Amino acid sequence: AKSTGHNMYCVYEDHMADNINAHLTLGGGLRKAIEEEQFILHYQPKIRLPDEVVVGAEALIRWVHPELGMISPDQFIPLAEESGLILPLGEWVIRRACRQLQEWREAGLDPIKLSVNLSSRQFMQADLVDMVQRALEETGVDPKYLELELTESMLMADAQQSIEKLHSFRKLGLTLSIDDFGTGYSSLAYLKKFPIQTLKIDRSFIHDLGLDCDNDAIVKATIAMANSLNLKVIAEGVENRSQIDVLNGYDCQEVQGYLFSKPLSSDDFLMYLKAHGVM
Ligand code: C2E
Ligand code: CA
Ligand code: CA
Ligand code: CA
Repeated sequence: AKSTGHNMYCVYEDHMADNINAHLTLGGGLRKAIEEEQFILHYQPKIRLPDEVVVGAEALIRWVHPELGMISPDQFIPLAEESGLILPLGEWVIRRACRQLQEWREAGLDPIKLSVNLSSRQFMQADLVDMVQRALEETGVDPKYLELELTESMLMADAQQSIEKLHSFRKLGLTLSIDDFGTGYSSLAYLKKFPIQTLKIDRSFIHDLGLDCDNDAIVKATIAMANSLNLKVIAEGVENRSQIDVLNGYDCQEVQGYLFSKPLSSDDFLMYLKAHGVM
């Protein structure tokens, strides 16, 4: 029994060391990766209900590592936050997204709205609004096609400053969305103090839809309140038809999830749009 315990401990220890090594390797490579632009954006379609037409997309970053291959943002965004490299990386994301909007327009697509995720450190950056404005001006993108996804915790860190920053973004003409809604501590009534247009219900609530009455009641009430406050409401993480049926019954306006598509490269997204979009 003792030796089994010892072996198990060793296995655990090796596993931890691997994680730490991966952490250090990725962290060390991040600066170089930014210089060499080893990143791409993938695009996940946003689908309007009930007609199920593609009306937008969310940009999601991937690190195309020369040795390790494709690395998901959960593995390096926290490292980028810790090191401050999220600032140059976040700027790259905004610029890439704007250029993508321009490329889609040049390809003859009807314009769609593209959402970009911000991280908390990036949101606190003093010249963030100026940076976004420059990116829009340099690419000639109409700001109404750019949306920023922010989390409740980002906004609550310094509520007064956040409100001012959001108003500056609104003056630029872009739209603002609350991501992962329901996972924080703030009420929707309080959030309305912020000039936001869209609410994205966290996928943990969507996962249990139709399986848990309390959960369904929360989703239903959230959608109803968002509708009555004139906020657009979108559900993320939709994976099956029965979730769509429930969401249609609650008057949810948009959905996003693997049921329709995983996040796609820009070429694959274009093909998807040609097959399913409003082109
Ligand atoms: P998020 O903003 O909540 O993005 C949604 C995540 O759920 C994405 O993971 C997406 O691929 C995944 N997803 C989409 N549909 C489904 C579904 O039907 N089922 C399930 N189980 N998952 C689904 P991804 O791309 O790995 O991104 C993870 C997180 O990394 C994002 O969560 C976001 O917080 C962050 N992130 C991604 N791109 C960026 C970026 O450019 N900047 C910043 N700051 N953060 C980013
Ligand atoms: Ca998001
Ligand atoms: Ca989310
Ligand atoms: Ca998130």
